[in-house]
Amino acid sequence: MRYVSTRGEAPPVSFDELLLTGLAPDGGLYVPDEWPSLGGKGIRDLAGLPYADVVRRVTAPYVGDAIPPEDLERMISEAYTRFDDAAVAPLRQLSADRWLLELFHGPTLAFKDYALQLLGHLFGHSRALRGEHITIVGATSGDTGSAAIDACRGLERVDAFVLHPKDRVSEVQRRQMTTVTEPNIHNIALAGTFDDCQAVVKAMFNDRAFRESFGLTAVNSINWARVMAQIAYYFHAAVALGAPDRSVTFVVPTGNFGDIYAGYAAHRMGLPVSGLVVATNRNDILARFFESAEYRKDDVHPTMSPSMDIQVSSNFERLLFEGVGRDGKAVAALMSQLDTSGGFRVGDTCHTGLRRLFSARAVSEDETLSTIAAAWRENGILIDPHTAVGMAAARALPRDGRSPVVVLATAHPAKFPDAVEKATGVRPALPPRLSDLYDRIERFYELPNDVGAVQDYIRKRVSAGQVRGATT
Ligand SMILES: *Cc1c(COP(=O)(O)O)cnc(C)c1O
Repeated sequence: MRYVSTRGEAPPVSFDELLLTGLAPDGGLYVPDEWPSLGGKGIRDLAGLPYADVVRRVTAPYVGDAIPPEDLERMISEAYTRFDDAAVAPLRQLSADRWLLELFHGPTLAFKDYALQLLGHLFGHSRALRGEHITIVGATSGDTGSAAIDACRGLERVDAFVLHPKDRVSEVQRRQMTTVTEPNIHNIALAGTFDDCQAVVKAMFNDRAFRESFGLTAVNSINWARVMAQIAYYFHAAVALGAPDRSVTFVVPTGNFGDIYAGYAAHRMGLPVSGLVVATNRNDILARFFESAEYRKDDVHPTMSPSMDIQVSSNFERLLFEGVGRDGKAVAALMSQLDTSGGFRVGDTCHTGLRRLFSARAVSEDETLSTIAAAWRENGILIDPHTAVGMAAARALPRDGRSPVVVLATAHPAKFPDAVEKATGVRPALPPRLSDLYDRIERFYELPNDVGAVQDYIRKRVSAGQVRGATT
C-alpha cells in the first residue's frame, strides 16, 4: 500500500515512512492511494471475533509488508490488553434501535486509547529497526495528550512533547498528563487555545531542518496510523448489529474529524453505513459546512466538551480530498484560501456528494446538560458531555426503525465530573486504577504561544535527555 498527499505534490510514501512523519512535505495529509475492500465475506467473517482480531484484519491491508505479520500480530494483541472490559469496545443497548458504543475502557478513559496504545507499539517497533531517537510532538485538547503520554511513557529513545491549551482542559485531563513523571515525557501548557497548539505543532513540522534534526513524529490524528486503528471499532460494532446484511448509522461527537473519518474509511472498505452524523458543540464550523457548503473559521468558544473546542478540523482535509474527486490541486487551493481569507466554499457536486453520507448537528451547552440528565433519568447511565453531544444529535434524527443508530461514547463520565454532577447531582467516580489521581504530583512547563519558544524548549530538553541516556 502506498500513501499519497491530499495536496497532490508530495511523492507517495510507504506505511513505514508515513508512521514517522506528520504532514506531507507539501503541507497535506497522507491517505491510502486506494481503499482496500474487505468484501461481504470478509465482513461476515469478523462476526464473533475478539476485538484484537478485528483490528488485525482491518489494518492488514494498510500495513502490507511494512511490518512482518507475526510482529504486527503481537503488537496488536499487546495493545488491547490494558482495557478494562473483556469486549474492549462493548455496545450497550439504550432502546429498540439505539446503542452506545463505549470507547472509554482504555488506560486514560477516552477513545484515543484505542489508537494510541497500538501506535506506541508501532513507534517502538520502527525505532527498534532504525535505532534512532525520535521526538513525538502533539497538540491536545485534553484526551490525545493523556493517551499519547500513556502509550509513550518510558519508551527508550523517544521523547514526547505534548502541548495543551493552558486552563482549557479539565482537571482530570490535565492531571492524567502532568502526573506522569517518566523523564521522556514533557508537558507544555501553552498560553492559547487548542487551535494555537495545533498551529505551533504544524509550524514545527513545516520547519524542515527542525523536523529532520529532531526526528519529529506526530501523534495527532494527522497520523494515518491512528485513523487506521480506529476503523476497527466501526466494523466490530456494525457486525455485532448485523452487518453486512444490515446497515448502521453512526453518530460521532466530533472535533478534529479523525474519529468520524475512520467511520468513513470503514464505509469505503465496504461496510454498509446508512449515515455518519457529525455531532459538534457550539464550535460548529463542520455543522455550518454541511448545511451551507461554506467552511469558515470562527472564534473558539470554551465548552464543557473541551475535546471538541476546535474550529479547524485537521482531518476534514482528508474528506475534502475525496469530495473533490481526489484532486490535490483543488484541495491545496481551498486550504490556501482558508489560510488567507479564513474560509472557502466548495462546489455543489462536492457538497451534495458528501451530504449523501454525512449530516451534522451543533448542540448547545443547555442541550448537552439536559441530555446528560435524560440519560440518567431514562437509562440509568452517566454519560460524559462529549457523548451527550452525540446523544443529543441522535435524538434529533428521524427514526426509520430499520437502521440501528450507534452513538460513540467517547469518554468516561469521570473524566468530566463537574458537568455530569451539574446535570444529574451525581459525581461519577474514577475507576479504581485512577482513584489516587488527585494526590499525585504534577509537572508541566508554561510557554507563550510562540513556535520559537517551543522549539527552544524541545532543543534543550532533548539534548539534556540524550546526555541522560548516555550516562545512565
Ligand atoms: C478527541 C475527542 C473527540 C473528538 O474526536 P475527533 O477525532 O477529534 O473528531 C470527542 N470526544 C472526546 C472525548 C475526545 O477525546
